[in-house]
Amino acid sequence: MPASHRFDAGVDVAHLPLGTLPGVGARVAEKLAARGLLTLQDLWLQLPRRYEDRTSITPIRALQPGVAAQVEGRVEAVERGFRYKPMLRVAIGDDSQATLVLRFFHFRAVQVAQFRPGARIRCYGAPRAGQHGLEIVHPSYRLLDDDAAGALGEQLDPVYPAIEGIGPATLRKLIGLALDRLPDDEALELLPPPLRARLQLPSLKQALLTSHRPPRDADLAALSAGLHPAQQRLVLEELLAHHLSLRRQRIALQQQRAAALADADALALQLQEALPFALTGAQQRVYQQVRSDLARPVPMLRLVQGDVGSGKTVVAALAALLAIQAGKQAALMAPTELLAEQHLANLRGWLEPLGVRIAWLAGKVTGKARAGVLDAVASGAAQMVVGTHALMQDNVVFHDLALAIVDEQHRFGVHQRLALRDKGVLRQAQDERDEGSVPHQLVMTATPIPRTLAMAAYADLDVSAIDELPPGRTPVQTVVLSAERRPELIERIRGACAEGRQAYWVCTLIDDSDEVIAQAAQSTYENLSASLPQLRVGLVHGRMKANDKQAMMRAFKDGAIDLLVATTVIEVGVDVPNASLMIVENAERLGLAQLHQLRGRVGRGSAASSCVLLYQPPLSAMARQRLETMRQTSDGFVIAEKDLELRGPGELLGVRQTGLAAFRVADLARDAALLPQVREIADALLADSPDIADRIVQRWVGGAARYASA
Ligand code: ADP
Ligand code: MG
Repeated sequence: MPASHRFDAGVDVAHLPLGTLPGVGARVAEKLAARGLLTLQDLWLQLPRRYEDRTSITPIRALQPGVAAQVEGRVEAVERGFRYKPMLRVAIGDDSQATLVLRFFHFRAVQVAQFRPGARIRCYGAPRAGQHGLEIVHPSYRLLDDDAAGALGEQLDPVYPAIEGIGPATLRKLIGLALDRLPDDEALELLPPPLRARLQLPSLKQALLTSHRPPRDADLAALSAGLHPAQQRLVLEELLAHHLSLRRQRIALQQQRAAALADADALALQLQEALPFALTGAQQRVYQQVRSDLARPVPMLRLVQGDVGSGKTVVAALAALLAIQAGKQAALMAPTELLAEQHLANLRGWLEPLGVRIAWLAGKVTGKARAGVLDAVASGAAQMVVGTHALMQDNVVFHDLALAIVDEQHRFGVHQRLALRDKGVLRQAQDERDEGSVPHQLVMTATPIPRTLAMAAYADLDVSAIDELPPGRTPVQTVVLSAERRPELIERIRGACAEGRQAYWVCTLIDDSDEVIAQAAQSTYENLSASLPQLRVGLVHGRMKANDKQAMMRAFKDGAIDLLVATTVIEVGVDVPNASLMIVENAERLGLAQLHQLRGRVGRGSAASSCVLLYQPPLSAMARQRLETMRQTSDGFVIAEKDLELRGPGELLGVRQTGLAAFRVADLARDAALLPQVREIADALLADSPDIADRIVQRWVGGAARYASA
């Protein structure tokens, strides 16, 4: 039976396993599967990384450095060199009376034999300026028969992302075979024709064929940039699929019940009166948004973004009081023990005078103490529970959790957020009074998520911004210095501390083992103590006992330490207003989000603060851009946008391999401009054709949907 008949009517061609392609045995199928390529559709959506234009021949004289081109000529001379390593140089010439050198560093004897003078050769590559005019290093090439016409390509050649164990030619062939099996538009197309007409989009089939096999006159620059209409059509559908899947989950969540924490806010008012400061306008606004969410019997899912020091904690405390006053529980989870401890201290100071009972749960709470805490959480004796991810362990059962607050959300992975969301659902099912109700969720982050990303990644969240700092803060001045200038800094620290100010010295290392970093911090501590004998120098790192760490932080906060040598454990949330100088060593090794977090430790009081970013030359281009960004702006939103541009969305959201970051064709940094359109189309589809919406989600997202929303 001819191969084409096997795919006839009734079979969903898109989901045929790759084993149905000729030439795909178990071994090849396994290599493809390792890259997530299982079905014909997976190959359809495996787009070229770039394209090569072999549809014409460029005269050697017309070549330009850096511009890839196809050249045809005859071998004029061959030279083998061995000066430092094996090397082969082949000079070719053409009718334009110019010479091009092909240079090889790896080659075999047969290749040398092929290049006899006079042989006709066609090659492709990007020339660069060499010793004797232009040269191409390791061109792709083939030898032509003397008199054959040597047909030119009809289409631009796709170059696919490499797959281990499968040669590029084989991969190209397999994708070609898969494309040959593309069904007709009718079977494939999901976007309604009027929509396509309005947006002037090609059909899916056309878009796939053009993306894989662009015609010779296609706009190569647009294709290379991923901005060709054919590619953008695919990107649009993929973004639409992700957005729809988040929206559907959002709808599902809104169909669940949550406790309406109506209007009893006497406790919250009491706290506001007791605070030594007045809330900023932004804090007021966000608190009111949270409060009106909480008043509804539908689970809140709200992200509060606010730059470091903008005062998110007090907003969280006010929200917690609404839950507590309604006779229910609130939980606050932070990513590090140090930060959780600081929250505990703040909340104790604010809430205990109001008679609120607070429990503390972290990994180090063990034995009898732990049993006692678990009891208090389960019986409801604890109204507020503060802790680390220990809160998410299976044996933690809440009596009646109505509000889960997650601080510094970006530090938690996808799975952890899901676990906390499920927590209220799972661990409360036994509770008869409130069966099936889920907690409201408040997520706080100091790493502002770019608007575009928030839309795509968090279509399931409402977003509030505390976009105003408390009064009296002065901006931190940032300087970037080579590590050679370290001695001057020591003087600067001496001066600052003599004036009664305090300083941080932050150690980082490329090795992220706690052990090695702790050692480095230890030796920096010893060196600085020796150079600054008149100062009280302290040390905190991740390997210290929690008690010692906390005692040291407290000493620093109380002014008993002048200079604190620390690892990035101080990164998140630590609050010492009198500290006004920070030095970050090896700043080139840190990402923008982390640098921004660190710098946020200074400039929290009224003194003018500065931050010195020390780097070890030479700087990579990326690192230079990061440091320059830090020097230029302290606006968390600008920094987040830049971070997105430099790193891509995966790392920003902490979902590197799964869900959201696993776009096949879209690139949020590049394609963000499509998002408003995506949202509009999603609205229309959800209203008019929910079945089509389902099929679009199924095609692009499938089972990954759950993680994409976390
Ligand atoms: P972040 O948003 O970074 O978590 P915090 O909640 O830790 O910020 O607040 C930073 C500091 O600012 C704390 O010392 C806090 O008590 C103080 N603070 C919060 N709100 C105000 C305000 N409206 N006026 C003055 N200080 C405030
Ligand atoms: Mg905070």
